[in-house]
Amino acid sequence: MMKPLLSFEHVSCYFPTSFGELQAVRDVSLDLYEGEIFGLIGETGSGKSVLGLTALQLLPENARVTGEVRFESKSLLQLSEKEMRHVRGKEIALIPQNPASSLNPVLKIRTQLREAVRHVKGLKDKEGYLVSWLQAVSFPYPFKLLHSYPFQLSGGMKQRILTIMGAAGQPKLLIADEPTKGLDALARHDVVEALRNICRQTGATLLVITHDLHVAQTLCNRIGVMYAGRLVERNDADSLFATPRHPYTEALLLARPTAGMNPMAGSSPNLLQVPSGCTFHPRCPYASEKCIEELPPWTEYEREKYVRCFLYASCT
Ligand code: SF4
Repeated sequence: MMKPLLSFEHVSCYFPTSFGELQAVRDVSLDLYEGEIFGLIGETGSGKSVLGLTALQLLPENARVTGEVRFESKSLLQLSEKEMRHVRGKEIALIPQNPASSLNPVLKIRTQLREAVRHVKGLKDKEGYLVSWLQAVSFPYPFKLLHSYPFQLSGGMKQRILTIMGAAGQPKLLIADEPTKGLDALARHDVVEALRNICRQTGATLLVITHDLHVAQTLCNRIGVMYAGRLVERNDADSLFATPRHPYTEALLLARPTAGMNPMAGSSPNLLQVPSGCTFHPRCPYASEKCIEELPPWTEYEREKYVRCFLYASCT
């Protein structure tokens, strides 16, 4: 049996607000294996980015996290900030979601990339190393690019630079938070190809957090679907898109432009007042009395295929 590289074990995340404590992530357990590309999908506010940031301990100081996050033999939530600084960038790297604010506007790309690889041991030719990375993600004029400033690059180019900044430090795990947000179709394609090439060449594991279903479908091996802080379905990407089981997944797929843009009923719940039972019940066309009263169990309806819905609760 393969050993997971990263495990979330019953992870919950809470944030204090003036209206009470908001629970952004609810009892999520999930394993990521070496070399795979795992996608977390769901609407804004479903908790997918919060879960990703938990692994890096990058949540605001007032956040409260319970459960366990294991990376190899380390229990990440038990590490001090000093110990986490050794993990971030070297073992787990974040590719942030906003290239405009994540790159320093007054520093050349070369300076920023050199900083990202400063801890890589035995690198004699840093410039050559960076050029090889730029070529790996299909930049045609890598030397010219190294001497450019961020304002001279398009949104898609900046996102690919951020991808290199994460990957060139040779981490075992990359977390890409909305890597294609705000990009046009061509730039999205370039970023997806860059991520795919990087994983292929380095063997790194990739956790992609995205609301872009096309990106999830074309890039990921396995996918987890989150709704109102909970994982509601997990499957391999092909099966999930061919036969979605959870009614929320089904509704997400039906809302795609290629499926006729059928709008989903209702809206995401207020996380300070989530519905009882199955949190999706106010929007679900199959809801019954039981769905309003009880939380459906996490059910393995076929080998390695999981769903949290009473429609499948007896399929074990
Ligand atoms: Fe719908 Fe009930 Fe399944 Fe929830 S448990 S998704 S309300 S059928």
